[in-house]
Amino acid sequence: MAEGMKDTWYQCDRCLACCKWPGDVRVEENEIDAIAAFLDMEVDDFIQRFTRLRTNRSGLSLIERENHECIMLENGGCKIQSVKPFQCKGFPNRWNFPGWQEQCQAKPVPMEEAVALGLVDEGALSADHQLRGRDLSHEH
Ligand code: SF4
Ligand code: SF4
Repeated sequence: MAEGMKDTWYQCDRCLACCKWPGDVRVEENEIDAIAAFLDMEVDDFIQRFTRLRTNRSGLSLIERENHECIMLENGGCKIQSVKPFQCKGFPNRWNFPGWQEQCQAKPVPMEEAVALGLVDEGALSADHQLRGRDLSHEH
């Protein structure tokens, strides 16, 4: 097990709550090409159709529907699951917030067992990505 790795992995139960919270779903420049390619779209078209400026105008977010769902939520799942942004991949193991377990159904699995079962998304635990949580402050 890598040094510094936590001893518990929280395995997503696909309850989709985190796809329905208000706020930005940050999409970074280096993620946009892969998502556009996955959707078989030109990058500019993807940006026009599926993104908006973040609340703080510092980059792009996926569009939030009027009911606060993410625009990529379709037919009970994420339309871009395999290429979803790191913000999505990182919750709740890489980032979370006080009281997150009241809103997320992810199940605790001992880390060694999770690694053995292939549940651990190395990318989600990587320190290379500056992950910040979705804005749940309802301030906008
Ligand atoms: S809220 Fe938790 S269990 Fe539900 S989809 Fe998000 S990460 Fe998975
Ligand atoms: S991109 Fe997918 S996983 Fe991320 S919030 Fe949107 S629907 Fe959920």
